[in-house]
Amino acid sequence: MTELNSTDSSSALIRLSAARLAQKLAAGEVTSVEVTQAFLDRIAAVDGGHRGVHAFLHVNTEEALAVAAEVDAIRAAGGAAAEELHELAGVPIAVKDLIVTIGQPTTAGSKILEGWHSPYDATVVKRLRDAKMPILGKTNLDEFAMGSSTEHSAYGPTRNPWDLDRIPGGSGGGSAAAVAAFEAPLALGTDTGGSIRQPGAVTGTVGVKPTYGSVSRYGAIAMASSLDQIGPVSRTVLDSALLHQVIGGHDPFDSTSLPDPLEDLVAAARLGNVNGMKIGIIKELHGEGYQAGVENRFNESLELLKQAGAEIVEVSCPNFKYALGAYYLIMPSEASSNLAKFDGVRYGLRVLPEEGPLTIERVMGSTRAAGFGDEVKRRIILGTYALSAGYYDAYYGSAQKVRTLIQRDFEAAFAQADVLISPTAPTTAFKLGEKLNDPLAMYLNDVATIPANMAGVPGLSLPGGLADEDGLPVGIQLLAPARQDARLYRVGAVLESLLEAQWGGPLLDRAPELTDTSLEAPSLTDAASIEAVPSHGGSH
Ligand code: GLN
Repeated sequence: MTELNSTDSSSALIRLSAARLAQKLAAGEVTSVEVTQAFLDRIAAVDGGHRGVHAFLHVNTEEALAVAAEVDAIRAAGGAAAEELHELAGVPIAVKDLIVTIGQPTTAGSKILEGWHSPYDATVVKRLRDAKMPILGKTNLDEFAMGSSTEHSAYGPTRNPWDLDRIPGGSGGGSAAAVAAFEAPLALGTDTGGSIRQPGAVTGTVGVKPTYGSVSRYGAIAMASSLDQIGPVSRTVLDSALLHQVIGGHDPFDSTSLPDPLEDLVAAARLGNVNGMKIGIIKELHGEGYQAGVENRFNESLELLKQAGAEIVEVSCPNFKYALGAYYLIMPSEASSNLAKFDGVRYGLRVLPEEGPLTIERVMGSTRAAGFGDEVKRRIILGTYALSAGYYDAYYGSAQKVRTLIQRDFEAAFAQADVLISPTAPTTAFKLGEKLNDPLAMYLNDVATIPANMAGVPGLSLPGGLADEDGLPVGIQLLAPARQDARLYRVGAVLESLLEAQWGGPLLDRAPELTDTSLEAPSLTDAASIEAVPSHGGSH
């Protein structure tokens, strides 16, 4: 009986929002060790094995429990130290494995970093530690964050908790799936072209790409430095605001970090008011090419916002149709330069050529041939070509001009509306393997998310319901002008509460129960022990 009760309470605990967990911890109704253990048990139950979610590449059991115990001890002792604890102290979190951490491996989803340990913490990780949030582990991603399905991970794909045969989005499919499968209440992601928002959309979770420069990139392994941004992943809009408030704000270690103090994002999420606000539908980001069920849920959200007092207007961003093309020149160009440091000398893997002389070029060549997957090689080749003398102006130069046009489209749109709205992704989650051998079809998933990265503006994706034709989650994207991230939380919180009132609870309550795979699960203590799922199509 006691057994049953404790199982019951831990399965209830893992479904609570981070905000609710924080309240219960502060009120002494539960300890951080209990909460952290409940999530670790859930990871052990659903993450491993052939049909497991496989959201985690590394589980940080001992350290997470030690941090939890430390928070509990401070709370139990009371006094000033207990009062000074951060609101989220003791609330566990998962971290995308593109973000470096002391004491845990960081692989970036690549064989080339297998076994590598960072000698320093990313600024966002340091801030999590300062807030005393136990770090549950590192989550799976497409290799170096290149992809929209997490199938390009060298360690095998993550599965979507809504349907284990479908993709969880990418590149941050691990963080989104961990949160959707109740393996973590919160996670960190990175978004270069949609890798926080699109996984959020297809897993029924919330994901935010903050204003470029408002959250430090120090310690996020760079993909495309002018587009990359770290941001929160959660199950509720308020939870993302709470996490954003922890990680955001100026950092002298990031040369592109904004000096501005962070707005009160949590207050904005708690206020949740759209009365009198103008919300602009982006003409170019819905309709043709978008799944009917996505379009239907999008229209319902517009209707709800109208009823809540918002004025819905239509705006046109004619240059958005060039965003994807320009992104696939700028992103590979920057990535080809950023990835040049993986040379077989400084980090991780070193593979010696099988025969012939041991020159630096040949060691570099055999290390990269073995260490990088197909998608990474494709983008390095594309970027190197686009940057080569004679082609620079035609490709990289033109793409940068398109970027300016996209920024102007946003400026014109924000002159007419306070916030813009669109579906986050054109379709719901597709089947594992479906687009793996068709890079262009894969790239098209990000049509609606890429413009925000090109202009540096913030975006939030929240669950908008289930598509009629397949019963899978649809994401609604909100976009705001740079430095106005608070508006996303304000509008997002209203839409979330109206939708949940309609559904009679959170969307994730409708996700199927996951079966316990722990009996067949491998040990989850290090990345190397995790089996790759056979459907992985990479050449690793
Ligand atoms: N899916 C996009 C790409 O493959 C975006 C990736 C990201 O945001 N990291 O480039």
